[in-house]
Amino acid sequence: MNELAFAPPATPAVAIEGGGRFPVHRIYCVGRNYADHVREMGSQPTPPFFFMKPADALVANGAPIPYPPRTANLQYEMELVVAIGRSGRNIAPAGALGHVFGYAAGIDLTRRDLQAAAKENRLPWDAGKGFDHSAPVAAIRPAARGHLSRGRIWLSVNGKTQQDSDLSYMLTGVPQLIAELSTLYELKAGDLLFTGTPAGVGAVQPGDRIEGGIEGLEVLRNTIVPPA
Ligand code: MN
Repeated sequence: MNELAFAPPATPAVAIEGGGRFPVHRIYCVGRNYADHVREMGSQPTPPFFFMKPADALVANGAPIPYPPRTANLQYEMELVVAIGRSGRNIAPAGALGHVFGYAAGIDLTRRDLQAAAKENRLPWDAGKGFDHSAPVAAIRPAARGHLSRGRIWLSVNGKTQQDSDLSYMLTGVPQLIAELSTLYELKAGDLLFTGTPAGVGAVQPGDRIEGGIEGLEVLRNTIVPPA
């Protein structure tokens, strides 16, 4: 009598370099974490703030991404994604990297028109950020192969470079982001954290090929296809 009414959906997961898959619990994202992107959005620098995407918004590397509904301005944001491998709350910055399972290249796809309307009306960002297929992520490189605090981060559309920056330009680094986030939520093994995007964000259309890379990590390649 305690049986589930129907079979639960499969646990979303991200490939791990060298084999296996990382089961995803939650997807957290940080806003306004590169000064040049803060400027291009006409925003002011703020302390780190967070929003979420549903775990089942994940898209595998190479999978097609259907153009989402209710938008005329789908934009890419290339980001370093941190995978959490050890749970914790109120984590000290000095110990934060010990909670990192690994790193991956990801894109925080955004319905910019819906996000802009939400900002203007002081409404939540969920519809602008947390929609289906909004979180493509490439394979995770285990932290045993080194932590990442610098290195090129770039994105191209149809072979033309649109974003080209360096992880070292993050306003708040990974240890401090983990520490701050863990004061708001208990972090769990399986959480992902998108760490913000540099300048150069822009719109894509069905048929566009997006490639995004971070020095040392698997390159993310996805194509936008017509609406589902
Ligand atoms: Mn973002």
